[in-house]
Amino acid sequence: MSAELEELYQSIILDHNRRPKNFRDMPDATAHADGVNPLCGDQLTVWLRMDGESVADISFRGQGCAISKASASMMTQVVKGKSRADADKLFDDVHALVTGRAGAQAAELGALKALSGVSKFPLRVKCASLAWHAMRAALHGAGGSVTTDQSGGESAS
Ligand code: ZN
Repeated sequence: MSAELEELYQSIILDHNRRPKNFRDMPDATAHADGVNPLCGDQLTVWLRMDGESVADISFRGQGCAISKASASMMTQVVKGKSRADADKLFDDVHALVTGRAGAQAAELGALKALSGVSKFPLRVKCASLAWHAMRAALHGAGGSVTTDQSGGESAS
């Protein structure tokens, strides 16, 4: 990755961390799930309001490192208005991105590519994927709490 690109990615993440999008409770949510990443201390809640099969609204609140917050903020921006199936696909794409298996589809991820730098740092991968695991849990009505405190961070099921 070039130094310029790395700088751009850094600034996207810092910007979302400072001014997170959709950072609010959602009283009329139809689903929510908590995410906990004990390795870093990240904690967040993701709310969804489904309209049939599409995500009419999505928000989050919580505290954690810049990566976890920026990832959650960007997630709310891209997932809003998507169908359940598209949100699932985004989960897969982002998961591939942050674990360094992005391949061709990364071209469609836009600003989310700022998260690609974490693939070199296993602990940061959990930070970046936390909100996404919570979103998927809420999306499939699992609710409750997901934690990354298992090998590979694949504990949402
Ligand atoms: Zn973190």
